Amino acid sequence: MTGLRPGLEPRQDEIAAMMASATSFVTDFIGNLDTAPLNGLAAPGTAGPSDDVAALLAPPAEHPGEFGDLLQVFRTAAEQSADTAGPNTFAYFPGGGLFTAALAELLACTVNRFTAASSMAPGLVAMEHGVIHWFARQFGLPATAGGLITTGASTGALSALLTARRRLLGDAPYDNSGTVYVTTHTHLSVSKAARIAGLSPDQVRLVPVTDDLRMDADAATRMIEADRAAGKHPFLIVATAGTTDTGAVDPIGRLADTARAQNMWFHVDAAYGGGFQLTARGRAKLDGIDRADSIALDPHKSMFFPYSSGVLLVRDERLLHAAHSADAPYLQDMDRGTPLPDYQDLGTEMSRGYRGLRLWLPLHLHGVAAFRAALDEKLDLAESVHRALADLPELDVLTPDLTVINFRLRGGEEINRTLLETIHADRRVHLTSTRIRGEYTLRLCVLNHRTHRRHVDQVISIVRDAVRTVTAATAAAGAR
Ligand SMILES: *Cc1c(COP(=O)(O)O)cnc(C)c1O
Repeated sequence: MTGLRPGLEPRQDEIAAMMASATSFVTDFIGNLDTAPLNGLAAPGTAGPSDDVAALLAPPAEHPGEFGDLLQVFRTAAEQSADTAGPNTFAYFPGGGLFTAALAELLACTVNRFTAASSMAPGLVAMEHGVIHWFARQFGLPATAGGLITTGASTGALSALLTARRRLLGDAPYDNSGTVYVTTHTHLSVSKAARIAGLSPDQVRLVPVTDDLRMDADAATRMIEADRAAGKHPFLIVATAGTTDTGAVDPIGRLADTARAQNMWFHVDAAYGGGFQLTARGRAKLDGIDRADSIALDPHKSMFFPYSSGVLLVRDERLLHAAHSADAPYLQDMDRGTPLPDYQDLGTEMSRGYRGLRLWLPLHLHGVAAFRAALDEKLDLAESVHRALADLPELDVLTPDLTVINFRLRGGEEINRTLLETIHADRRVHLTSTRIRGEYTLRLCVLNHRTHRRHVDQVISIVRDAVRTVTAATAAAGAR
C-alpha cells in the first residue's frame, strides 16, 4: 500500500478512495453492533489499551501514511473501549450516535464555515437558529427565547449560571454572597460550573430531598429565606429534569413558583430528560418546564446524537447575550447588527465547529415523528424492565420516572457488588451502579436508539439469572 502523495490536499481520486474505505468501516461497524460482544468492558483497574500500545502511542512520521493502516489503528483502539453505541449498553446514560449526524459533521467540517458571527455565514446560522427556535417551542418558551448548540449540559450550566449571576447580582467584582440551590442528586457539572465561575463550595447549597428523591420545595424556600436573612444573595435554583442517579424529575412547577417568589433565576437541567419532551408522557413528567429561565438538554443523551450535541435555551436571549458578549477592534469588519445571533456573544466559545448541521440534518431527514417513536419505545421498554424486575421478590426496585431503573438485593453492598459482577460475567450487557441515600444500588438505563424489545428481553433474563445465582450462593454459604 502506498501513502498519500506529499502535501496537505489529497487528489480527488485519493479523497474518493478514502471515503470508500471509511464507508465500509461505517457500514461494518453499524452492521455488527447488534452482535458485537461488549469486549471493551474492562475489569476494574485494567482499563487502558491492552495490546498494540506501540501503534497507538506512535508519534506521527515525517512522511505520508497509508489511510487503510491508520484506519486499522483507529478500529483497534475503538474496539478496546466500553461500547456506548450498541443496543446492549444500559450503563450511565447510553450513547447513541446517529449516523446521519456523523454525515452532517463530515459536510460541516468540509465547508468549514465560521458560524460564531452570523454575517460570516448567515444561511448556516439561520439553520442553527431554526433548530434552537424549534426546541424553544417544544418547551413552551416565548418568542424572546434563544440559545445555542453547545458541547453539552456542562457548558450549558456554566453559561446559565453566568447569565443568572449577571442578571441578579450585576457586574463583577463579585463578593462571595451569591448562593445557588441544588440537591445531592444534582449533576456534578453544576458545582463544577460554580467553581469555574469563582464561587466557593459553600455558595452551592444542598437542599434536602423528599422521600421520593426530589428537591424539597418547602425546604428550599426555608433555606433561601434563612440565607437571605444571614446576608447572602440567593440567585439561582437548579432543578433537574431526570437526575443521573435515578432519573427522578424535581417538582419543576413548584420550584418555578419558589424562584419567582424569591426573585431568583430558575435553571432546569434537562440533560437527560429533555428529549422526552417530544413525547406525551415526557411532557407530563416535565410539566412546568415552560416557566424556566434557562434549560439545558443533551440531544447526545435522549435524542441519540453523537457526543458534544448539547442545547442551551434561555427564556430571554438578550440576557444570555449580556452575559457573554465581547468586542475587539479586529472584529470591526464584521457586520454585528444582523437580525441573526452572533453565537460568539451567546456562549463561551468563539471559533466553533458548526454543530448546527449535526442537529438540523437528522431532524429534517428522519422527521420528528421518528424521534418521538424511538423515545416512546424507550419508555415502553423501561416500563417492561421495571415490571419484570419488580416481579422478583429478592429485589427492591424503584419506580422510574423515565427510563432509569434502580434495583438492589436486600443485604447490603457486598451482595449487590457480586450481583453486578455476575450480570457482567459474560460481557453481553453493561450496567452501572450508584448510591442512593448512601446505599449501593444498581442502575439500568434504556436509552440507545438501537435497543429494542429483544435486547431488553435479554438483559431482563441476564439480571434474573444473576439474581438466582447470587441468592442461591448466599443461601448455600449461610447453610454451611
Ligand atoms: C450528563 C449530565 C450532565 C452533563 O452533561 P454533559 O453533556 O456531559 O456535559 C448534566 N446534568 C445531567 C442531569 C446529566 O445527566
